[in-house]
Amino acid sequence: MPISIHPSVDNGVKPGAANFAGGVLSCKCPSDKVSVRISAQSAHNHVCGCTKCWKPAGALFSMVAVVPRDKLEVAANAGKLKIVDESAVIQRHACTACGVHMYGRIENKGHPFYGLDFVHTELSSESGWSAPEFAAFVSSIIESGADPKNMDGVRARLRELKLEPYDALSPALMDFIATHVAKAKGVRKN
Ligand SMILES: [Zn+2]
Ligand SMILES: [Zn+2]
Repeated sequence: MPISIHPSVDNGVKPGAANFAGGVLSCKCPSDKVSVRISAQSAHNHVCGCTKCWKPAGALFSMVAVVPRDKLEVAANAGKLKIVDESAVIQRHACTACGVHMYGRIENKGHPFYGLDFVHTELSSESGWSAPEFAAFVSSIIESGADPKNMDGVRARLRELKLEPYDALSPALMDFIATHVAKAKGVRKN
């Protein structure tokens, strides 16, 4: 039996749809669900092994993408949301009843990812969201209890799914962050 990575990719990664323009994310509460409307396609979707991202029960990885913050609005039951950790760079707004993270927001205007909100598109019933492209922070699943002896198998399964495993973000995103830092320091002009 193949190693289970995340329910949205275990049966193969589904491609995103051209011209997809967003949808509604709902929390897991049986009633009075928190809903978040997104009026844009997602970007940089990936599976993430870090200990901070919300994961569905039993999953080794989360699946997380970004959308422009001005394209995201809480549409229902905003009163159930609370920030998980006010001191974290990404402020994850979670449903206090079911625990699902509805969106993560960066308030530091100097941060490379300022202006983007982190979302879990699996919380939407619409299909067509951008497909996950890589696996981030793979080694960190050990911090959540995964057996270090199984990591070769986990990485092999990720490669089989065409989700190249990295122990940080992807090289493209790491370069993007470093470029932002270089500009902030005045090392680079553009
Ligand atoms: Zn809920
Ligand atoms: Zn993460």
